[in-house]
Amino acid sequence: MSLLENKDDIKELVEGLNFKQKVERSLALIKEAYKKHGDSLVVANSLGKDSVCVWDLARKVNPKIRGFIITTRFKPKETVRFMQEEVARYPELKVFKNDEKIPAKLYEFDPDKCCDVLKVLPTRWAIEKMKVECWVTGLRCTEGRTRTEFKEVEERDKGLVKLNPILIWKEREVWEYLALNQVKVNPLYAQGYRSLGCEPCTKITSEGDERAGRWIGTSKCGGECGIHTRPLKININGDGI
Ligand code: SF4
Repeated sequence: MSLLENKDDIKELVEGLNFKQKVERSLALIKEAYKKHGDSLVVANSLGKDSVCVWDLARKVNPKIRGFIITTRFKPKETVRFMQEEVARYPELKVFKNDEKIPAKLYEFDPDKCCDVLKVLPTRWAIEKMKVECWVTGLRCTEGRTRTEFKEVEERDKGLVKLNPILIWKEREVWEYLALNQVKVNPLYAQGYRSLGCEPCTKITSEGDERAGRWIGTSKCGGECGIHTRPLKININGDGI
């Protein structure tokens, strides 16, 4: 049976497969999806550890696979520098950014709106401009309270498949892969961050939940920017459908 159509119990796989088996499964998922979608398969790279892991896996399947980075005016300088280095290393990575004017401190009084404008909208542009049929993400089901119900292959937007090839990996296994494969990571991890985002919305914490340092003090705390939950296909009005 096609791995893309598997109905396996995700929670069982998290504990049931060892590191090597997980790497093989992830590579097989990307390989099968690439065979099906060809150059319409594109990797979303947020420059965090999970993204650079998926990017490395995808490049092992085929170094021609393209990717996109969504950046914002609020990214820490370390992330911006790391992004510039990654784009220089991999010209297959395209950067998308929304520079439109927004109210000052929108991230404080309406972080959902801020993420919508600065992250979700440029993700829609990337999907449209790069003619994406299948986008590949670094989402993991053990990462936080909002990430437990995802599947390895999803189609929330009609005509846009989302592949989450490392969904069943644990945080430790991501670091294991990055170390063994000598993948370069964002230097902010060395400062103690576990999950990276925009500067005003990301703090260092030592709580159990990996995403606990995101949007502290808002209703979004430990939550999502919206690219995994909001519609991403653009209709003729330029809106999500
Ligand atoms: S993470 Fe914060 S600053 Fe960045 S887009 Fe979302 S609300 Fe705005």
